[in-house]
Order: sequence, then structure tokens, then C-alpha cells
Amino acid sequence: MMNPVIYVTRKIPEEVLQPYQNMFNFRMWDKEDVPVPRDVLLKEAATADGVLCLLTENIDREFFDYAKNLKIVANMAVGFDNIDVEAAREHGVVVTNTPDVLTETTADLTFALLMATARRIVEAADYIREDKWQYWAPYLLAGSDVHGKTIGIVGMGRIGEAVARRARGFGMSILYHNRSRQEKAEQELGAVYSDFTDLLQKADFVVSLVPLTEQTAKMFDRDAFNNMKSSAIFINVSRGGTVDEEALYDALAANEIQAAGLDVFANEPISSEHQLLELDNVVCLPHIGSASEATRTKMLELCLDNLKAVLNGEEAITPVK
Ligand code: NAP
Repeated sequence: MMNPVIYVTRKIPEEVLQPYQNMFNFRMWDKEDVPVPRDVLLKEAATADGVLCLLTENIDREFFDYAKNLKIVANMAVGFDNIDVEAAREHGVVVTNTPDVLTETTADLTFALLMATARRIVEAADYIREDKWQYWAPYLLAGSDVHGKTIGIVGMGRIGEAVARRARGFGMSILYHNRSRQEKAEQELGAVYSDFTDLLQKADFVVSLVPLTEQTAKMFDRDAFNNMKSSAIFINVSRGGTVDEEALYDALAANEIQAAGLDVFANEPISSEHQLLELDNVVCLPHIGSASEATRTKMLELCLDNLKAVLNGEEAITPVK
């Protein structure tokens, strides 16, 4: 019998694929940094049994209409807002994501971004590179403290909890908002459940870690920024679509909030022309939340293990439900 055909939508290291070579017939887009063109994706999907894709691919209803043999789409991300899960279900295709393996790495980045924004690390490093450092001065590049402050985590799931553990180490008070209570986090971390508005009003750091859904789209809108303290720092490591970027720009430009640290944007990639980059009180990163070498490899391996399970007729390891 022929091995199942797997289409991989980006060039990934041969070493990662090697243990699976004897069970799959791999086909792969041949570029590391450039996404597969839509027409190539649809053509390849038409004959594939499984697809390993990234969040750069729009896996919509049209894709599933093309993909006649497809049994599984393994998304190399925990977020799956790039996939029409309902259309997948109707076509009998299993969708998997990569939870857990990226939790701690993404929490590290979230905290790094929070620290960098509060203590103006990027601006300070640039200060030396631009030869601006002439004297020490009492308030030179003075930022905000992190220790002892209140963090408000919107989306207290796997990554939110891992961020809360880090915050506890900094002696922070922890507020969180979800649709449901997380009793474990309340008991173990002293996190306090809060409604959305209350959290926005009380937190010194508002951290978004919700998935992008119809409910969370632009949940950080003009009202949300109005409700924050003028000293508040907003951190977004979830998806850019959770934020009304115009409203964020206006709030930052008018100093209605103090600063923002952003790993994600409504339309990625952004360039240096993006309006938010006009502002000094913003730290922007190119969606690197889970980007440690070890974690990116684990994410790929989890995708491949999901493909293996489903194409062997077993349950997926991490199905999207
Ligand atoms: P998770 O465990 O599913 O946590 C998400 C949390 O959001 C849950 O606790 C959920 O609680 C809450 N939530 C969902 N809908 C909500 C709503 N309408 N209002 C308030 N809270 C809501 O997911 P995770 O593994 O922590 O990942 C979270 C997100 O981070 C991912 O979806 C992804 O978009 C993003 N992410 C980004 C990067 C990056 O590179 N920047 C890396 C990894 C993940 P309830 O269901 O109780 O509401």
C-alpha cells in the first residue's frame, strides 16, 4: 500500500521529518520564510491525505472543497483562528493544534515583553546605539516598576496561568478574566476573578491571552482603553484581531494609557510604516511568542504525531474541539 501523502506548507528541517519518512510520502513547499501561494496550496491539498500548515495559511471552506482525500489538518500553533473548524467538521476532516508544548516559552516571551515595555529596554538599548548617552541623569529613561504591581490577565488559560506564576514571583497581585472561573489558579496563585471592566480599571498591566473568536474580536476597543488607568501598560500576545488598533493608537498618542507591548497585529506582517511604530511608547515584536528553537521543534513533532495517529485510524492527540 502507498504511504499517505502529507503536504507541509513550509520548508522545515529534514531532521524533524526523518523519523516519519518511512510512514509518509512528504511533499513540501520549498521556502523557509515565504508562505505557500494560495493556488499551490489548493492544488497540493487536492491530493493530500494530511496537511501540516502554519498560521499564515487561510484554511477556509474553499480549501476543504478542494481537499477531497484529506483526513487531517495539523496546525503548527495553539490558536486556530486561521481555520474554518466548522467547514472541516462538515468535510469529515480532523483539525489539530499544538497546546501545552509552547505554554512556558510563550509565557517567558509575554513576561519579557511586559518587562521590556515597563522598563523601556528597547528604547534604552537604542539610546546607546544612537550615541545619545552623554551623562547619567536622575530620570534618564525612567520607566515603571513591575514588582508589587497588579497584573490583569484576560484569558487565564494555559499560557495565562504560566504568566501568573511568573507574576507571583515578582510579588504582583493577580486579577484575571475568563468566561469561567479557574479555581485552581485562584487557590494556587491567589488569582482573583474579575469582570472585564473591573479588571481594566484596576490593573497596572493588562495582558491579553484570549483566543481570537467572534466573541473576542476587537474586545480591546475604545471603551476598554478608556477604562484603563492612564499609567496602564497593555500587552498583547494573543492575536492582533482582539484589538481595535486605531483605538489603541489614539489611546497611546493621547497618553490615555502609558505604553503597549505587542507581539501580534491585525494584519501581519507589519512594516516600519505601521502607524503604531510612530510612537515611542510601543514595543513591537514579529509574532515570536513560541519562538525558541526547542519549542518550535516540539510543535512540529506534535503536528507529525497527530498526523501519524489520525492516518493510522487512531484518535488525534490534540484535536481542536
Ligand atoms: P487556552 O488554554 O485555551 O486559554 C484561553 C483562555 O481564554 C481560556 O482560559 C478561556 O477561558 C479564555 N477565553 C476564551 N474566550 C473568552 C472570552 N470570550 N472572554 C474571556 N475569556 C475567554 O489557550 P492558551 O494555550 O493559553 O493560548 C491562548 C492564546 O494565545 C491562543 O489562542 C493564541 O491565539 C495565543 N498564542 C499566541 C502565541 C504567540 O506567538 N504570540 C503563542 C501561543 C499562543 P473560558 O473558556 O473560561 O472563557
